[in-house]
Amino acid sequence: MSRGAERQRSKVVEEMKMEDELAGVPTVEEIERHPMDELLRTERLPHIWCPGCGLGTALSCFVSALTRSGLDLDKVAIVSGIGCTGRVAGYLRLDGFHTTHGRAIPFATGLKLANPELKVVVFSGDGDLVAIGGNHLIHAARRNMDLTVICVNNFNYGMTGGQMGPTTPTEARTSTSPRGNLEHPFSVPNLVSAAGATYVARWTTLHARRLEKSIHKALLKPGFSVVEAIAPCPTLFVRFNRRRLEGGDILKYYQEHSVIRHDAKPWEVDIGFGGEIVCGEFVDIERPTFQDRMREVYGELRPCDDLGLLHRPSAEATTSFEVEIELGEEKPAAVPVKVKPLVVGTAGQAEVRLGGFGGQGIILSGKIVGKAAALHDGREVTLTQSYGPESRGGACSTALIISDGAITYPHVTRPAVMTLMSQEAYITYHGQLVEGGLLLIDADLVEPDPSADQRIVPIPATRIAEQELGRRIVANIVMLGALTALSDVVSEEAMRQAVLDSVPKGTEELNKQAFGRGYEYAMGLLGEEADA
Ligand code: SF4
Repeated sequence: MSRGAERQRSKVVEEMKMEDELAGVPTVEEIERHPMDELLRTERLPHIWCPGCGLGTALSCFVSALTRSGLDLDKVAIVSGIGCTGRVAGYLRLDGFHTTHGRAIPFATGLKLANPELKVVVFSGDGDLVAIGGNHLIHAARRNMDLTVICVNNFNYGMTGGQMGPTTPTEARTSTSPRGNLEHPFSVPNLVSAAGATYVARWTTLHARRLEKSIHKALLKPGFSVVEAIAPCPTLFVRFNRRRLEGGDILKYYQEHSVIRHDAKPWEVDIGFGGEIVCGEFVDIERPTFQDRMREVYGELRPCDDLGLLHRPSAEATTSFEVEIELGEEKPAAVPVKVKPLVVGTAGQAEVRLGGFGGQGIILSGKIVGKAAALHDGREVTLTQSYGPESRGGACSTALIISDGAITYPHVTRPAVMTLMSQEAYITYHGQLVEGGLLLIDADLVEPDPSADQRIVPIPATRIAEQELGRRIVANIVMLGALTALSDVVSEEAMRQAVLDSVPKGTEELNKQAFGRGYEYAMGLLGEEADA
């Protein structure tokens, strides 16, 4: 294209853009950007919730209400506890904290006391808020702590397998009440209004617009405001109770069973199984908040000096949440030239720890070692596990004691053998290794402390799994092969058998190869010692 033609083309494009702008035509970037993107950590999506789960609707209602509220987003904090609903704090681009089980309200209380300028919202599930966190819920309501609570009630513990919870209706089936719940449930509106909440509403996720309006009102209401969102858990609660819940068409069930009754007394809104779901705004009263009382006694409240105002993470913020890892260039051989196998013997007992992050199969590895030692080597074994709330990406570890005698206490404190497959696990656990113990690390994922005087053997388990076997998922089995070659805590034959017994059907051959490759690699290191 000649220069003149190019100039002419640019001019036309500019004119078209100007015309579009004047006519209010959105740009491509604007079309691609969802209005909720501003408040969602899109780098953490897709979310983990099941198809048909009501949590997405509850979250959308919250995002819409918050956007409309006009609150300064730099002064809004979101706190959640454990469970499927607990993920909300991680998905919102707000200052947030995903606390331990049942402790969302105490954490939120502390946050509000330390920085009274914040609007603090607790977004959690019925199990977290009403069972293990039940006492915190009623006492925060009694104090009229200036918090907003969104309680997503799906009548069971979803994340852990659909167990019965404190809001499970009588007769409803769950994984722990297969013949139906014998207990009388808590009614959230009745509980919190009796304890002193200033605003209480309930909607199902079918009533999305009304739910959004109530959340909006709760956000702007001083004092302890609570919105209960009845939401479907199609994977568990609805599945277990399909016959009583419109054959599983739960939104139809909500439509046919819910009634709106704003003037209902909170003690009249219990949810009977198969009965009415009374929805509406049940409480909207004024009474002094805890913060009002504090002001009367201490004067104007200010944020703690060392806390200041927090700032929302920027849209560009990166996250360690991602499990995806780049292996990068292969490191030059940091592998020790000589490796002696660790001989623990069978006289005493040996402690073993395996660590990494969720998704690496660390817990499965622990079970394989345990099975090998207990079922195939005929020894005594205990196994404990530790992992974070995240199903993927969080720190996790499994620890075993293997002994020829009775094991009186299962807690592992001084492992003789460890395999650590993430930097976080290395930082957390490497100091526990007994003197003379053996520490295997993933050569590409762990940067050991050069000043630590320990026997460290880097094994490129992830690299072997990915580049030689084509499946990163078997890196844990490669590592088990190396562990077996370099220590005598379990026999090779027992481990080979336990691997085959434990892996999913159809993957036996791949896992067999992975184990063999790890074993062979580590034996090669022993060979180097002999040659040196
Ligand atoms: S288990 Fe239930 S509550 Fe949890 S994400 Fe799945 S459908 Fe939702």
